[in-house]
Amino acid sequence: MIEETTVTCPACWETIELSLDLSAGTQTYTEDCSVCCNPMTVHLWVADDGEEYTVEVEAESD
Ligand SMILES: [Zn+2]
Repeated sequence: MIEETTVTCPACWETIELSLDLSAGTQTYTEDCSVCCNPMTVHLWVADDGEEYTVEVEAESD
């Protein structure tokens, strides 16, 4: 199940759209901003029911 959401890029502060693969469960991965191309770390927590989720993004620390 793919969920579309919007987040604020930690590098350029633009609002960008992310596609979340909820079927993959809770995960942390790196995504490049579609506006400024800087990498950001995406933290995705998926609830046991596979429908509720929380997403946070932060600038990649390295
Ligand atoms: Zn950006």
